[in-house]
Amino acid sequence: MLLSVIVPCYNEEGNIALFYSETVKALGGLMNDTELIFINDGSADRTLEELHKIYDSSPYHIQVVSFSRNFGKEAGLKAGLDHAKGEFTVIIDADLQQRPEYILDMMKILREHPEYDGVACYQEKRKENFLMTFLKGSFYKVIDSMTDVKIMQSASDFRLMRRSVVEAILSLPERCRFSKGIFAWVGFNWFYMPYEVEDRAAGTSKWNFWKLMGYALDGIIAFSNKPLIISSVLGVVIFMLSIVYMVVIIVKTLIWGDPVAGFPTLCCLLLMLSGIQLLCFGIMGQYMAKNYTETKGRPMYVVKEKLEK
Ligand code: UDP
Ligand code: MG
Repeated sequence: MLLSVIVPCYNEEGNIALFYSETVKALGGLMNDTELIFINDGSADRTLEELHKIYDSSPYHIQVVSFSRNFGKEAGLKAGLDHAKGEFTVIIDADLQQRPEYILDMMKILREHPEYDGVACYQEKRKENFLMTFLKGSFYKVIDSMTDVKIMQSASDFRLMRRSVVEAILSLPERCRFSKGIFAWVGFNWFYMPYEVEDRAAGTSKWNFWKLMGYALDGIIAFSNKPLIISSVLGVVIFMLSIVYMVVIIVKTLIWGDPVAGFPTLCCLLLMLSGIQLLCFGIMGQYMAKNYTETKGRPMYVVKEKLEK
């Protein structure tokens, strides 16, 4: 098999048929040596029926892997990579925001340049509103300053990889997966190709502000210990400041015989310190929670049904 196309699908009933026909059209003769791997991530709509229709009528190699419930896109990507057999593997969304025509360009680059191991598409200009662009930009700055791996700004999951990259990614056993970090962590020589993101063909994005914030937090925790270091440093700094303050109080009392220290000062200090303590506990808790998830060793996804031809 030359090419594996991984397509994570969650409630994409309106897009599947169009995605399939557009992909077949774009890949042309390449389709004979290509497998389409659809991961149905516990869709609650008619996505699975649409996938069955394609599976029954298509003359090409198709896999439909259906999860027992929604496990999230990261699990979908992992399942796709687990099932991919191609010499090249590409990950693409089902909503046609990423045009399948780009796959040909990516293939061309890898075939003509053996020095590259993968091609990752990135958005030159984001079509999102100012706040989103700002938040995403800030996230990359934060994660960049906190981790040793270099995560390329705006690079998407829309990427084509050689077999060696896929095997390297699969060799990471972690359950709390943050693909952007994993792609960077495994290294290799990536070619970054600019692309234009289209509007969704149908349906709505599965992301909202809070989900994105959670995802950003997961990424930082998965790839950096700096928050723990920062909380320890904060503890040491506050301890030193408190010693200085103690000396100030003692000296003041000895010289001026200051009676009772002010209640407001006490109140502020108490609130500030307990706030910082809770924050540090929270940070530690986040790492412990991830550790707990990893040690439980649950599978990343449960397959309910699998079709392959
Ligand atoms: N997706 C998935 N599981 C999820 C959420 C999304 O498999 O829990 C798929 C979705 O069907 C789509 C891709 O991941 O093919 C990207 O999702 P979406 O379009 O919602 O993200 P956006 O393009 O807005 O970043
Ligand atoms: Mg999308």
